[in-house]
Amino acid sequence: MKKYVVLTGAGISAESGIKTFRDSGGLWENHDVQQVASPEGFQKDPKLVWQFYKDRFAQSLSVQPNAAHLALKKMEDKLQDNFHLITQNVDGLHSRAGSKRVLELHGSLSTAFCTVCRASHPLIELDLSCEIPSCKKCGNMLRPDIVWFGEIPYFLYEIEQLLKDCEVFIVIGTSGSVYPAAGFVMTAKLFGAHTIAVNLSRPDNLGFIDEMHQGHCTELLPPLVESMIGSL
Ligand SMILES: [Zn+2]
Repeated sequence: MKKYVVLTGAGISAESGIKTFRDSGGLWENHDVQQVASPEGFQKDPKLVWQFYKDRFAQSLSVQPNAAHLALKKMEDKLQDNFHLITQNVDGLHSRAGSKRVLELHGSLSTAFCTVCRASHPLIELDLSCEIPSCKKCGNMLRPDIVWFGEIPYFLYEIEQLLKDCEVFIVIGTSGSVYPAAGFVMTAKLFGAHTIAVNLSRPDNLGFIDEMHQGHCTELLPPLVESMIGSL
C-alpha cells in the first residue's frame, strides 16, 4: 500500500465558513494581525489577544467539518498508518471529522498552555469568563496554544521524516506562500513523491506540483480520494 501524506491549509476550513486573516488584507476580524498573532502583541495586551482567541474558538465550534474533511477521514480509515495529515489550520475540524493521525503545525484553538510551567489545558475545562485564564497547576497566566509569527511550528522533525518517506503528497487549500509549509511539497517532490494540489487558485509553488486540481476542495476531493484508494 502506498504511503500518503496530506497537507491542508485555510482553503479547506473556508469551505466550512471559517474566515482567515488572509481574506482581509492584514486584518483578522478587524484586528491587526501582528497584535493578535505575535508574542509581542500578547505581551502588550494579553486581554485583547485572549478575547480574540476565545471568539475564534467559539467560531470554530459554530461550524461543521465539510465533505473534504470527511473524505480525508475515510482515506485514513482505509490507509491507517500509511496515511498522515498535516494541517496549518487551528480550528480542530479534522479531529471533529474523526481524523486521528493529525499533526497541527500551528497549534490548536482548543488548548492553552501555561506561560510559566508549560502545562497544557483544554479550553473547555477552563473558566473562560476570566479575561486571562490561569493555570490550574501553578496559577500563572495561560496563553493560547497557537504558533504565532516568529515562533517555530510544531512537529517539524516528524514531518520531515514523513515527507521523505511518502509516495504521494497532496496539498489542499493552501496557496504555497507561507514557509515552512510551502517547502513541504518541494521536499516531498525531491524525495520522489508524486505531488498533487487541490486549490481554488494556482499555487505559488506550481513548479513542484505533478497534478493540479483547480476548484473547491469539497467538490474535487471526494471523487479524487475515491479514484486513488477505491470506493469509500
Ligand atoms: Zn502553570
